[in-house]
Amino acid sequence: MYYDLIRDAEALKEQLIKTRREFHRHAELGWTEMWTSCLIARRLNDMGFDQVLTGRSVCKSQARMGLPSKEELNAAYQRAQSEGADPDFLSDMKDGFTGVIGILNCGEGPTVALRFDIDALPIQETYDPNHLPNQEGFRSIHNGIMHACGHDGHITTGLGTAELLVKYRSQLHGTVKLIFQPSEEGVRGAKSIVENGHLDGVDYVLAAHIGGTPDTKISAIGTGTGLSLATVKMDVAYTGKASHAALSPHLGKNAMLAAATAVLNLYAIPRHGEGDTRINVGKLTAGSARNIVCDHAKLELEVRGSTSESNDYMEAYAQRILEHSGAMHDCSCEITLMGAARCGTNSAKLTALVADICRHKLGLSQVTLEDGAAGSEDYSYMSEHVQKHGGQSCYFSNITHCAGSFHNEHFDFNEDALINGVKAFTGIVLYLLENTTKPSF
Ligand SMILES: [Zn+2]
Repeated sequence: MYYDLIRDAEALKEQLIKTRREFHRHAELGWTEMWTSCLIARRLNDMGFDQVLTGRSVCKSQARMGLPSKEELNAAYQRAQSEGADPDFLSDMKDGFTGVIGILNCGEGPTVALRFDIDALPIQETYDPNHLPNQEGFRSIHNGIMHACGHDGHITTGLGTAELLVKYRSQLHGTVKLIFQPSEEGVRGAKSIVENGHLDGVDYVLAAHIGGTPDTKISAIGTGTGLSLATVKMDVAYTGKASHAALSPHLGKNAMLAAATAVLNLYAIPRHGEGDTRINVGKLTAGSARNIVCDHAKLELEVRGSTSESNDYMEAYAQRILEHSGAMHDCSCEITLMGAARCGTNSAKLTALVADICRHKLGLSQVTLEDGAAGSEDYSYMSEHVQKHGGQSCYFSNITHCAGSFHNEHFDFNEDALINGVKAFTGIVLYLLENTTKPSF
């Protein structure tokens, strides 16, 4: 059956490239992936998925982090409509309820969930004539928004995998959930899917990210048991009282002082003995004029930890400093959670299995990655949830030659990665659901 899979995946090549380019053209930011979600839902529906969830049934409303303003959400809706987003699904997406989950029920057996992220970045795509999307005419039609992290490739991999799994469904024993997750950038979306219960009862959860640099010469599946950092992103607003700087400074409440006090003390948080930690205040805005006591200040900051516990410690410590810095200067302090991820770890057994299937059954090159990752991924909410309930998780890298670097206006990837991704995900699901009982490995 793996021979058929290899052949069928390769036969999808033209179609996958076409699909990827379509998503690339319609790049949409987190929580506004409305055109994108409509197309995903349409495709899954037409393939014959047993259930296609959209709208409020995907993400729990209150658990969505870092939502754009109402105006931005409305503008995104209008834009999706004007670009012909499928009317059967579009109204579900109103107010930022993006993301799609496709479910295939194939009788008794384990449940496998695959996560594919779907959002783009606020980057103006380059006009460089050597950039493939310019050469081939599929650059983003949205000014200042670009798929510069390969999520257009991830969606396409998910849809290619969906198509083959439907084709092989008579060979599957169990349930497959394909989760097309909104708003991964800024780690804002995954938590709301977990809180809606979609990872309950999942035995295996997997995700992948395209990886590589301009120097990468190979195409391979990279696996390792490394981790991603837990993180919390916060916006903080201090509100004080404006006053004349010479006549009545004693009547003012200086929000800038509160913010400055907070910044200096945030960087003085003692380190945690059982995990690496990070803190960064990336932005501070305050004040209105030289001769006015400042009445408003805003901070944007993040903490990270190499364990969920050390990250929790950083978050709690930072919160205390933020609130008390406000109190010192008699200013109110409002903290808004903008994004968060848990510490992500791969399950050793499933990771070894993924490596083995890719190498020996699918004929893909496979490399072992070093432990430890520099970034954060909100997939960690899914992996932590599944692992806590006795399941296993694997996040792997779909390595290929990439132009430019990630989150850069020149970013592009070798589209062969689409086929490799489809082979890997489909092969793994076929193996895990070959029988009604869980395979031993
Ligand atoms: Zn990404």
